[in-house]
Amino acid sequence: MTYIVALTGGICSGKSTIANIFAGLGVPLVDADIIARQVIQSDASILNKIIAHYGHSILLSNGSLNRKKLRQKIFSKQRERTWLNSLLHPLIRRETKLRISLVKKSYVLWIVPLLFENSLHNKANRILLIDVIPEIQLTRVIARDGITYEQAEQILASQASREQRLIYSNDVIINNGELTTINESITFLHKLYLKLAIIFQQKTN
Ligand code: ADP
Repeated sequence: MTYIVALTGGICSGKSTIANIFAGLGVPLVDADIIARQVIQSDASILNKIIAHYGHSILLSNGSLNRKKLRQKIFSKQRERTWLNSLLHPLIRRETKLRISLVKKSYVLWIVPLLFENSLHNKANRILLIDVIPEIQLTRVIARDGITYEQAEQILASQASREQRLIYSNDVIINNGELTTINESITFLHKLYLKLAIIFQQKTN
């Protein structure tokens, strides 16, 4: 069985950036956001249910889902989030399990932005948190997604707090500075996970 390390953190904490550095070390990635996107693309009945719920204005002019608009509809409304989660989560769960079962390496990095918000933390063997101070997070969100300061603040407020994430995480990478400053931590954690994976496999086989 593959040892599962969940990689999580708030928006623009640097999850994708850091996951790609692990990938450079040969670590397979399973990305919850990519799976969510592919589930919607590959299953027409899901898109049809989203259209029935929100109307055709939820689509882009090319007929595909306007993901930005969908995010706006759900992020401040718990009821809408619950509706979308109950539609997508069973399929995402199935696809995630399948992809992890196909991994041939001893451990997999499972990138899950909303690990705590969606109570998925007990599905991982270990949790790696990418932590960043809100001031830097806000600057990065505004630069990356071209949104206003107020919109960025709203997104941050809708997510788990730093404290909530820190309580449940085993390991933390603090990504406030230059990326070069975290290379050593990544190498250290990679070696640690390889060792923990061996112990896990000895126990479970
Ligand atoms: P997430 O996947 O957590 O949303 P990303 O990895 O996409 O975050 O990073 C968000 C943005 O911040 C990207 O534009 C990325 O290039 C930038 N970024 C991430 N880490 C750093 C860093 N240490 N220094 C400068 N920019 C960074």
